[in-house]
Amino acid sequence: MTQPAFYLMSNPIQHYEWGSRDALTRLFGMPNPDAQPQAELWMGAHPNGCSEVHEAGQPQLLSSLIARDPVAMLGQATVERFAGLPFLFKVLAAEKALSIQVHPSKAQAQEGYQRDNAAGLAANAPHRNYRDDNHKPELVFALTPYQAMNGFRANADILALFERAAIAPLADALATFRAEQSEAGLSHFFRTLLTLEGAQKQNALDALLTYAAAHQDEETFALICHLSSQYPGDVGLFAPLLLHVITLQPGQSMYLDACTPHAYIRGTGLEIMANSDNVLRAGLTPKHINVDELLACTRCVAKPDDQILLAPQLEGQIQHYPVPVPDFTFSVYPAGRYPLTTHSAEILFAIDAPATLSHQSGEQLTLQPGQSAFVPAATGAFTIETQGTLARAGNR
Ligand SMILES: [Zn+2]
Repeated sequence: MTQPAFYLMSNPIQHYEWGSRDALTRLFGMPNPDAQPQAELWMGAHPNGCSEVHEAGQPQLLSSLIARDPVAMLGQATVERFAGLPFLFKVLAAEKALSIQVHPSKAQAQEGYQRDNAAGLAANAPHRNYRDDNHKPELVFALTPYQAMNGFRANADILALFERAAIAPLADALATFRAEQSEAGLSHFFRTLLTLEGAQKQNALDALLTYAAAHQDEETFALICHLSSQYPGDVGLFAPLLLHVITLQPGQSMYLDACTPHAYIRGTGLEIMANSDNVLRAGLTPKHINVDELLACTRCVAKPDDQILLAPQLEGQIQHYPVPVPDFTFSVYPAGRYPLTTHSAEILFAIDAPATLSHQSGEQLTLQPGQSAFVPAATGAFTIETQGTLARAGNR
């Protein structure tokens, strides 16, 4: 084999304003001399933030390396199935809540992307609903306590929370929902909240915040108060009454399905997703919400409590996280020595201690915490010796 077995990656950081200014420094010693928000570190070949790899001391874009020999880099099966590297792997460090969002299914994305194109919208038009024709399933793995919202609560629980808060301007909407506790009923109630305006919206939020302020010993209401300082006047402040509120502990994981509302509130985690930018916003955002498009892509059905966390399948000490899509695979390895074989291109990330990759050619690469390696599909058999926790991403 003439190409290297492993490539050390240099990864771009996205400075979105919700990002943490110190999480990447604390966890990985990454410098932040200008004290900028460091929201996301991207590991992949996405055109909006492509990693670089080093070959013979020369940096080049990972996308260029892949384009030079797609079959060697990605494997024949991936080249036939996907347009390029099918996943994007991130470290996400949130100081401030991200908008509540829903991602379309693949069929919805294909249809919506065609519709936006047919309407003559430019690729980067801000009022475009669909950026590409792909779905965007996501998996998040907490590195610190990681607060989030994921999926609807049961209808009865939503009703009980709103009834407790006794928000007078919502009394009629609540009575309608109580009389029709179905997917259509919840969708209608959700629409009512999203389209509140003027004095009715202000009065409803005032009542919500008054109740929440008096019940901050409960996570749901403490969260509403916390969010109101970041997004005053936003209809997303009702979301904690609608959606499951959860704080993942380090090492816990969650899968975010298509058509399921979710939000990341604070904390640092690894995130892996299909290569897509399709996001429909549902609150906690200064951007316009396209309510019709959002509701068309939202399944207004409760997410069962026991499906909020994603339990790994254990192979000895190795944790494999089962996801129902072929776009990515994700596994976590504790300290140890592991013989591995590539099934696709892979990205390996050292979480909390050095890890050394070895190939039979004699080639070795040691990753420090926070560093990552790109491993071409053609590398085949190799060995990892890790002193701490290591994450491994690939695709099927
Ligand atoms: Zn998302």
